[in-house]
Formats: sequence, structure tokens, C-alpha cells
Amino acid sequence: MSTIEIDHLAKKYQDTSNNGVLAVDDLNIKLADGEFLVLVGPSGCGKSTTLRCMAGLEPVTKGQIHFDGENVTDQTPEERNIAMVFQNYALYPNMTAEQNIEFGLKMTTKLSKEERTKRVLETADLLDIEDLLDDKPKELSGGQQQRVALGRAIVREPKVFLMDEPLSNLDAKLRTTMRTEIQQLQSELGVTTVYVTHDQTEAMTMGDRIAVLDGGQLQQIGTPLECYYEPENLFVANFIGEPSMNLFPLEVSEDELIGNEVNYAISDRIREAVTDHRHVTLGIRPEDIEIMETDDLNSFVGTIQVVEPMGDQNFLHLTVGGQEVTAAVSGEYKTNEGSKVSLKFPEESIHLFATETGEALLNCKRHSTQLPTITNLGGETA
Ligand code: ADP
Repeated sequence: MSTIEIDHLAKKYQDTSNNGVLAVDDLNIKLADGEFLVLVGPSGCGKSTTLRCMAGLEPVTKGQIHFDGENVTDQTPEERNIAMVFQNYALYPNMTAEQNIEFGLKMTTKLSKEERTKRVLETADLLDIEDLLDDKPKELSGGQQQRVALGRAIVREPKVFLMDEPLSNLDAKLRTTMRTEIQQLQSELGVTTVYVTHDQTEAMTMGDRIAVLDGGQLQQIGTPLECYYEPENLFVANFIGEPSMNLFPLEVSEDELIGNEVNYAISDRIREAVTDHRHVTLGIRPEDIEIMETDDLNSFVGTIQVVEPMGDQNFLHLTVGGQEVTAAVSGEYKTNEGSKVSLKFPEESIHLFATETGEALLNCKRHSTQLPTITNLGGETA
């Protein structure tokens, strides 16, 4: 177990056609001992490169990486005592699950055969794969193979787990199950973990904190709820949340924020936030839009184009003038495509960003008010 400090990390790949690709740009991240951090961002934002630099698989261009205060920047992967889990499990096809799990121990430690077997059996018990130990990879399902790959990482008792999209080859249902299993394992083992994904659902559900990257740069680091309710910029607001936040570019006037389709009244709180800005972008999450029977302050007429039933919720895809808007309403809400409805954007739910820089000027009020808690009926809490 270990703390991790990524200090001014930069990685430039040489590229003959131009000046090279700056894949990671001055990245600074600190992880506490035992923390689970998810690195998330769109494809090409530098997630895997960051992880590979941490693993020692890529030399860094600038900056340092420390594990438990020790500078490991120039150490080999073996010296760092990390374990990696990848998207393709890379199990040896000719070895049984047991031999696959044992293999790393055999290569990297001086443990006796007896001690190795003991560790493999303990790990198999933890992962509930004792029955599969004699099977070869081709006899295992995708989920079972990924469990064996996890076993191979766990058995070495590393200081740090580095996971690169480990669930992307699994079907949707299995992904959900494995997501929970990896979280439970990580919390049980207490090994500091960095987990790379482009899937914002994984990011929201798995990490103690998430680090959102774009263009090799850190956009925000915080708990999932902080990133959801208090995005620091437009990129994070747009990236985190499914369906995405609705965004409207507006111009600041005397008493209204004016757009093509949406004019929004300026209250004292909004005035304070938009001082010194002429162009702002108003954001509202789909679930924060209220469907009204009649017009109200800050409400807009929308035409329902498509109703997407999700069970407990319906996603309404509407147009307000020429702009597409998504609203999430109760699944029991009955409505017809083509109907006109009034959409209210309550002031406590809106976000405002400086259009030019993307910087957040005002976030919704919800997170700062007391959130409901679930009563603990007894027993230990984590
Ligand atoms: P992600 O994991 O977020 O999808 P990567 O870290 O794989 O992103 O890539 C970041 C950027 O670096 C991309 O523009 C990618 O094309 C580039 N890149 C990655 N690996 C190499 C490489 N070996 N040589 C040149 N460019 C690379």
C-alpha cells in the first residue's frame, strides 16, 4: 500500500510528421494511501499514457512520480511493485487458471512452491474461482477470465493497482456486477488503485475521487458528486452525467440573459456571478427541468420530439425553438410526441459558465444543501 504523487508529469510522443504529440500536459495528482482514483475522459485524452508512465512502461518527458514518498520515475516496472490489469486479459492460453495466477509469483518472488500454492488458493477463495483453477482460458467465460486476470494481479500483493479499462470487453450486465466486485475487493485489500475508463458511469460509481482529463490536462479532481454538482468548467459539466447537461449560450444584458430561444431573468445572485462577463453559457441537467402546466418565470415552450422510456424514468427529447433539449421525467409521466409543454429551469438548479474560457461562474445550489441520508440500522459502517 502506498501514497502516490504525480508531480508536473508531461509526456510527449515523438512523431516524425510534426512536433510530436503532447499526450500528458503538466499533470499534478496526489492519492492518499488506499484511495481508489478513476481517471476518466474521452478517447485520446491521455489516460492510458498517464497510467503507463505510472507503471514504468513509458519514460516520462518531464516531472516525477512518487510512491510512498520514494521517487520511482526512473525505476523499472518490476522495481515499482505495481500490478496492472488490462482490457485484454492476456492470460497464457496453455496454462490453467492456477498456473496463470501463480506465474507472476514464480517469476518475481523467491517463494517456495508450497507458499505460492497457499497464496494462489487464498486469492482464488477471495475471487470465488476455486472451481475454475484447473481450467484453461478457452474454457472460461469473459467474466471468469477477467477474474483470473484480477487474481494474477492480487496474488502478488502489490503496493499499487493500475487498471486500464479492465471491463470493456464484458457485456453490460457483467460489467455492472464486476464493477461492484472490483470496488469491494479494492476496499477489502486497501491497495491504492488508479482505474482508467472512458465510461462516465464507471467513473461516477467506482471511485473515491475522479480525475477528469481532456487534451492531456486535468480538468477537475474531486468526488463524483463534486464533479456532478459543482463542475469547475464546461468540459466537466458536459462530460459527467448521462444524458448530458443542456447548455445554452446567452448574452448578458441589463436584466436578462438573452439567447435565441431562451431568455433568463437576472436575479441578484446571477448578477453577482456574471459581473464582468458578456457571454455566458447556462447549463441545466435533464432531471432538473420541471414540466409545467402553465407558463412561469424562466419557463420556455418545448415540443416533444421523442419519448425514450427507461422504466423508472422517461427521457423527453424536445426542441425549444431550434435547440434540442433533454428532460428526464418520471416513467409514469404520460405524454405524446408532438405535444407542446412548458419547461421551467428553476434558478437553484442552473449552472453558469463563462462561454469564452469555460470557467464555472455559478453552480446549482443542491449539493450545498443537506442531502438526504439513509438510516443505518446497525452494524459496522465503512
Ligand atoms: P486515452 O487512453 O485517453 O485514450 P492515450 O494516452 O492512449 O489516450 O493517448 C493520448 C494521445 O497520445 C493520443 O493523441 C494518442 O494518439 C497519442 N499516443 C498514444 N500512444 C502513442 C504512441 N506510442 N506514439 C505516438 N502517439 C501516441
